[in-house]
Amino acid sequence: MSTYSCKSFLIGNFGYPVWENPTEHMMEAVFKHHGMKFRYISTEVQKDDLKAAFEGVKAMGYKGFNCTLPHKQNIIPLLDGLGESAEVMGAVNCVVERDGKYIGENTDGKGYIESLLKVTEIKDKTAVILGAGGAARAIGVELALSGASEIIIVNRTESTGQKLATLINDKTPANASFHPLDGQYDVPMGADIVINATNIGLYPDKTKVPINMKTLNSSMIISDVIPNPPKTQFIEDADKRGCTTIDGLGMLVNQGKIGIKYWAGIDVDASVMREALKDIFS
Ligand code: NDP
Repeated sequence: MSTYSCKSFLIGNFGYPVWENPTEHMMEAVFKHHGMKFRYISTEVQKDDLKAAFEGVKAMGYKGFNCTLPHKQNIIPLLDGLGESAEVMGAVNCVVERDGKYIGENTDGKGYIESLLKVTEIKDKTAVILGAGGAARAIGVELALSGASEIIIVNRTESTGQKLATLINDKTPANASFHPLDGQYDVPMGADIVINATNIGLYPDKTKVPINMKTLNSSMIISDVIPNPPKTQFIEDADKRGCTTIDGLGMLVNQGKIGIKYWAGIDVDASVMREALKDIFS
């Protein structure tokens, strides 16, 4: 029998060896730091094996797990229930065992919100989100549920951008609109928060985020979901314009911190996780 009181893991198809998984490195570092009897193991699970893997989770008494693509949607019919934002988004990245039931949560957007709340209140703010994929959806829904009043989705592909704006309008109290991305995007003057939620800038990509930097001003909060490199070109350019900036490392660390709180009920030291990630990403 395992001596570990809590176990969790990450399932998905990573496209790189599981032992190089940054999330595992970050989680194991903080468990060690706090002397927690808890393991986080990256496991590659193919699409058709998800149900069997989930049965294994139950049989082995895991406290929960993270799931990444392609499982974020496919796990939902197997679960006993969903948290509010996971239900609105239709995507789960964190499963939590509560009283014998496995509940799906989405901690990606919550991780972003935790970073944002360190620099601003969210109520009645206007946010511009570049991108309309999983990260944009998680952030958009969570911003809307946290009181943002206006959310502008800017995306290259009209159908996905429009779909996200409709989802936010239909399922949250915020007003969302879609702006097509065509060349450089001019950020409207009234925007408070601007987020790059595309893949642009993820190591080793050197492409510039298609935002007209001259339309940013120092009262705006500029953030990036890209955790690697921690200081993206977008964040560096926004710093130069005097904006308040938030990097993607914070979102990754905070979603992990929230997951541990769900699984183990413990508030861990986020700075240990951040340092562990920086070690890998640098
Ligand atoms: P998706 O594939 O679901 O969405 C990608 C989005 O980026 C789409 O809206 C896509 O537009 C847009 N996009 C991609 N390339 C370009 C380009 N060259 N020009 C314009 N738009 C582009 O990915 P995810 O949302 O899941 O992930 C996005 C990024 O967020 C990833 O790099 C991931 O590492 C990061 N992420 C970070 C997290 C963190 O904790 N820090 C958590 C989750 C994700 P279109 O619809 O037109 O294709």
